[in-house]
Amino acid sequence: MTDEVGEILIPSDRIAVRVRELGRTLADTYAGREPVVVAIMKGCVMFLADLVRAWGGTMDLEFVSARSYEGTRPGRVRVALPEDLGEKVAGRPVLVLDDIFDTGGTLAAVCCEIERLRPAELKTLVLLKKRRSRDGGSPGRSPDWVGFEIEDRFVVGYGLDHEGRFRNLPFVAALREDA
Ligand code: 5GP
Ligand code: MG
Repeated sequence: MTDEVGEILIPSDRIAVRVRELGRTLADTYAGREPVVVAIMKGCVMFLADLVRAWGGTMDLEFVSARSYEGTRPGRVRVALPEDLGEKVAGRPVLVLDDIFDTGGTLAAVCCEIERLRPAELKTLVLLKKRRSRDGGSPGRSPDWVGFEIEDRFVVGYGLDHEGRFRNLPFVAALREDA
């Protein structure tokens, strides 16, 4: 599987170091509070699992799904929330977690749904953010925290897929041009 992907952009040891840093930041930010972590499935599953253990605080985990990519191209965003999310989120600090911020459309769509549930506070964290030159930047708000800024290429690994594959690679790699 490893030889089917292209260049390794972020090796697993760099991911581990950054995840520990982010864990410390969240521990400070949410000290004495119990946030609801809303993870956007499925891409952030590895990141979520490592991050919440590095963080070590007290929190609830909730999952939403959002799909926008068709193959390697962005399309319309569809968000699915669990039915009881409103009860969990109302009046509490919420941290929305995603794997990668590209156009910002996914995060904006999820945050819009969460805002309607009246959280006390809403913050966002993404593992990766693409430096975009294509259209002069992103429409929505920028994430509050970013793990790594990367160049504008389609990436896989550490949770990110291409047509369902490569999520279990321990590093982030560019997808080979011929894939
Ligand atoms: P956005 O809505 O910000 O344009 O894109 C965010 C979503 O598209 C991410 O949650 C992710 O699922 C998907 N995505 C964007 N860029 C990539 C990429 O380079 N690789 C993979 N695997 N997914 C991506
Ligand atoms: Mg996603």
